[in-house]
Amino acid sequence: MSNAAPTAAHPPSPVEARVDFDAPGIHHGTLDLPHSSETSAWGRIRIPVAVLRNGAGPTALLTGGNHGDEYEGPIALARLARELDPGALSGRVIVLPAMNLPALKAGTRLSPIDGGNLNRSFPGRPDGTVTEKIADFVSRVLLPMADIVLDIHSGGKTLNFLPFAGVHALPDPDQRARCEAAMDAFGAPYGVVMREVDAAGMFDTTAEAMGKTFVTTELGGAGGATARTVAIALAGCRNLLRHAGILAGRPDGGPVRRLDMSDPDGFVVADEDGILEPCVDLGDPVRRGDLVARVHRIERPGGAPAEHRARASGLLLGRHWPGPIAAGDSLAVIAEPV
Ligand code: CA
Repeated sequence: MSNAAPTAAHPPSPVEARVDFDAPGIHHGTLDLPHSSETSAWGRIRIPVAVLRNGAGPTALLTGGNHGDEYEGPIALARLARELDPGALSGRVIVLPAMNLPALKAGTRLSPIDGGNLNRSFPGRPDGTVTEKIADFVSRVLLPMADIVLDIHSGGKTLNFLPFAGVHALPDPDQRARCEAAMDAFGAPYGVVMREVDAAGMFDTTAEAMGKTFVTTELGGAGGATARTVAIALAGCRNLLRHAGILAGRPDGGPVRRLDMSDPDGFVVADEDGILEPCVDLGDPVRRGDLVARVHRIERPGGAPAEHRARASGLLLGRHWPGPIAAGDSLAVIAEPV
């Protein structure tokens, strides 16, 4: 048990780690978070965790289910935790396939318990909401153990992406180089340097501020996983472990196409409610001024659709999903080949 040390500012985490982080071999357990509810007065939310350890070496923290409607992470990490041979490791792998378990069980981006967006709740609070308590345990207990961190995302129910691994345009050149090298090793078809619209509260931001080598992904979306995107996630995890020296061998991912999505003009946002007609598909080249989509205001008979044109050139990296769209929704993301 290794709960965070309490201080005056930070009381101890209420999460009980029912797994041994230090013993060699493979250990499947749970992170038990007390939660008193209508259906379970003295209940616990049991977040699955696996710890695989052998010999000396770095620690990798692999997470999925940060958002509950993104499935490549939970699937690939559940498989990895069963299929990795701990005897083949030099170091430690901590696997958290369902970081926001209540959201994953509900198939929702946000927690059905408190409406919390886990990836906007970091670094969290030990005395906060359920979602904030999860973030706090990850921040104060799991992240300090890790040398390299992978958080597997996809677009969820309302976005769809070309499969990519991503890093942020970090100010420290050494850390940025470490993150980019890990991103390339992951071996997704695309590697993207990102600038977040609003980075406050993200897992990424907390891990990066602690100096960790951090890689995120957007492997697909549309509210489900595909055989291809799960395969990319699984191969990417093994490649990342090879890159870290925890697994033997060299990463064997294919060539990574580098893209940059740090230009705010690459984001197209809907101005009206309606039905989305895509005029380009994921991966298509787009030039500034090209028609990206029409939005049909279906309740106005004979009315012209709104036209959305690209303000940047590149290729279509992401798009809104599914058909109905509302004013303010991200409609398209255009990234520039590097
Ligand atoms: Ca996500």
